[in-house]
Amino acid sequence: MRKNFIAGNWKMHKTTGEAVALAKDLVSALAGGPNKYMIAPSFTALDAVSKVVSGTNILLGAQNMSTDEQGAHTGEVSVLQLKDLGVQVVILGHSERRHTYSETDDMINRKVKLALSHGLEVILCVGELLEEREAGKAEAVCEEQTRKGLAGVSADDLKRVTIAYEPVWAIGTGKTATPEDADAIHAFIRKVVGEMYGADAAAAMVIQYGGSMKAENAEALLAKENIDGGLIGGAALKADTFAPIALCK
Ligand code: PEP
Repeated sequence: MRKNFIAGNWKMHKTTGEAVALAKDLVSALAGGPNKYMIAPSFTALDAVSKVVSGTNILLGAQNMSTDEQGAHTGEVSVLQLKDLGVQVVILGHSERRHTYSETDDMINRKVKLALSHGLEVILCVGELLEEREAGKAEAVCEEQTRKGLAGVSADDLKRVTIAYEPVWAIGTGKTATPEDADAIHAFIRKVVGEMYGADAAAAMVIQYGGSMKAENAEALLAKENIDGGLIGGAALKADTFAPIALCK
């Protein structure tokens, strides 16, 4: 039985003070909540937010990390530095990293393996562009990103991987995939995981939906058999909009 995993990606929003205030509100609002939770503030707020969520039911997430463990990589943040701040989960392959910052499947795969080798959990994001969906390539894109993102990951390490299906055309646009369309792609991704790792791993894989998820559509999305939570951007920026999603059963 999979547990829904509701994760908030705060992107490049909030000063440290604002991040701490939101984290405190969420600690109160989500205490005893029915799902698994994570919030991912900017790197600059990780240390302060770490102190707020430590010992609660909210995991601390980072939004990205370097392909390398350490070294001459100006402006990058390493897995060792994230762990030092108490980070437990890292979001990798977000569409903004893929399409704005030209991250390749190979880079994302290196990050996935590095994060897992240091004991972190990974949220691996996959999803098609609008033109890819319109060309009938949504499944092919998700399959390629899933297979390449997970290449070389052992069955044991896979237990610390969540996949987030995020159709790029639905991110921050107010357009949401219908629950039926999203569920169909989730089922397809689960099939791909099954081909790679077997039926038990496929059945256990938590697959989040991301793309304009909000209180108004969360219940219908989460009711679908293959949708096991959400990776949430805009609606994660306020406790009033995140908590109703996070408390959905
Ligand atoms: C995201 O950035 O992962 C996301 C899903 O954003 P939004 O909820 O704003 O569409």
